[in-house]
Amino acid sequence: MIRYEEPVFRPPSEAKSLIFQITLGCSYNRCTFCGMYKMKRFRIRPLEEVIEEIRWASKEYPFVRRVFLADGDPLCVPTDYMLRVLGELYRGFPRLERVGTYATPQNLLEKSPDELRDIREAGLKILYVGVESGSDRVLEFVKKGVNQRQIVEALVKAKEAGFTVSTTFILGLGGRDWWEEHALESAKVVNEAVPHYTAALTLMLIPKTVLHWQAQRGIFKVPTQRQIMKEMLLFVENIEVETVFRSNHVSNLIPIKANLPEDKLRLSNELAGYILMTPEEPLPSTWLGPF
Ligand code: SF4
Repeated sequence: MIRYEEPVFRPPSEAKSLIFQITLGCSYNRCTFCGMYKMKRFRIRPLEEVIEEIRWASKEYPFVRRVFLADGDPLCVPTDYMLRVLGELYRGFPRLERVGTYATPQNLLEKSPDELRDIREAGLKILYVGVESGSDRVLEFVKKGVNQRQIVEALVKAKEAGFTVSTTFILGLGGRDWWEEHALESAKVVNEAVPHYTAALTLMLIPKTVLHWQAQRGIFKVPTQRQIMKEMLLFVENIEVETVFRSNHVSNLIPIKANLPEDKLRLSNELAGYILMTPEEPLPSTWLGPF
């Protein structure tokens, strides 16, 4: 059987994928806004355990077409380990079309171009990379551990190795002081790295995170709903390259799907309309307590 250690996260587009946890938690686990894996001590699961689960699942669900590897940043595992897992997956599931996983910019920077190419050729096809912001000031404030230049380098490296790259940015992460810089510098990352997919989530303040604590004390100024819409417009208006744009996460105020840049005018007009209708009130997802 598959022994999941909860909670297990996956991107919305991996809803139909069979999930294997090859790591538990996040090897970095220091971003101040993130509470996803705070309760887990990071570890790489023993390879024999993972292989046993894959073999069991391949008998139970032989028609699986998609697999997602969890938890937070499985690309941190040694390359040989990843190649063994991928080999086992494609042997076990003859109809398997795609394997995806989360990856941090750090994971990508740590692997050599040859290692990334080997992993891609072994069948890891799509990487979901949390960029969060393109602004060095915001990245430093939220302790992302990388700057804009390193993020662009990591994304370009992933694309050159042949991966489909899906990026996520967090609207509102610049608070009220840096929202314009956050939107403009994030668009700059998209323009320089040209990810296949660009997703804009909206900030959710998670109790017990450092950012939540900072917001309670006014160190981080929580954005308003209208600001989020203005930020989205500024972000979209400044993306000049081809990317599939999505803002349809549960955290978002309105669901958006667009192909940029061709849908830019339509989307900008829609967003300008939404801005007028959106109140200057705090985001529902940034309620501060009591907890
Ligand atoms: S945002 Fe990603 S890299 Fe940062 S702590 Fe959370 S899972 Fe780890």
